[in-house]
Amino acid sequence: MKKTASLAVAAVAILVMALAGAAQTAFDSTRAYEHLRQIVQFGPRPAGSAALESTRKYFRQQLGAIGVQTSDQTFNASTPIGPVKMTNVVATIPGARPERIVFTGHYDTKLFRDFTFVGANDGGSSAAFLLELARVLKARKNPLTMEILFLDGEEAFHPTEWRGTDHTYGSRYYVEAAKRDGTLKSIRALVLVDMIGGRDLTLDRETNSTPWLTETLWQTARKLGVQDNFPDRPEPIEDDHLPFLEAGVQAVDIIDLNHYAAAGWWHTREDTLDKTSARSLQVVGDVLLAALPTIEARLVKGAATAPKPKTGRH
Ligand SMILES: [Zn+2]
Repeated sequence: MKKTASLAVAAVAILVMALAGAAQTAFDSTRAYEHLRQIVQFGPRPAGSAALESTRKYFRQQLGAIGVQTSDQTFNASTPIGPVKMTNVVATIPGARPERIVFTGHYDTKLFRDFTFVGANDGGSSAAFLLELARVLKARKNPLTMEILFLDGEEAFHPTEWRGTDHTYGSRYYVEAAKRDGTLKSIRALVLVDMIGGRDLTLDRETNSTPWLTETLWQTARKLGVQDNFPDRPEPIEDDHLPFLEAGVQAVDIIDLNHYAAAGWWHTREDTLDKTSARSLQVVGDVLLAALPTIEARLVKGAATAPKPKTGRH
């Protein structure tokens, strides 16, 4: 009896520990949504603004509190409105191997001078999501190093057009710097999130993205029963993943642009907290974390490298 009882106690203790561990490594949209609320209350956050510096301060506080170190990558961008000081914030969670997966999104909001634009979804949701993702990844055993990259200056300064080099300032600077210092080749894959908090989340299947990464995520979404949020709707979108793809990094963009825009909420005064929902952040967090072991297994094996060129001998 005693032995059985102590075994039962041990079994319960193990179960409790397992559940606690699972809770730690599950995405918690309540936390993510609270980050979003905090970020939005800083007001409009265009590149170079004091509100964006307050946002960075919030990142450092939140990440520091969970034991994740950050570093700033500050640079002067040449823009149509003159030089603008921008800062990418890089958080690193060391894994078993030095090669890394980069999870990224922009945290600046588009500059509008004629109305108040708080960018709850566009700029806010990606930043809030990445903060919660950092907590989960920190509590997890990671075969590869995890990097959380908050990108500045994704938005164009031109009020309506996206052209030339007037956009993706942060990602382009990051890629050039990583090429120069030789750290680009240790990025095995990049996952970009952008506008993932809209309350009727409908993600585009972004066609510039690396196909196997997209397929892994969309397949996982079907398995989890959230295919309504991940429809098979192909759509090419220019975003912060393009400089990485052009540099040879495998990358996927998870973005709800068209649906949010069709509702009249993209780059308008309507992009406010009430157009977003915690559930949308939860769905993306659940799918990404459920797909992650598959992505990691492929990256660790090195099976994700480009197929061997055909010799034409057969
Ligand atoms: Zn935007």
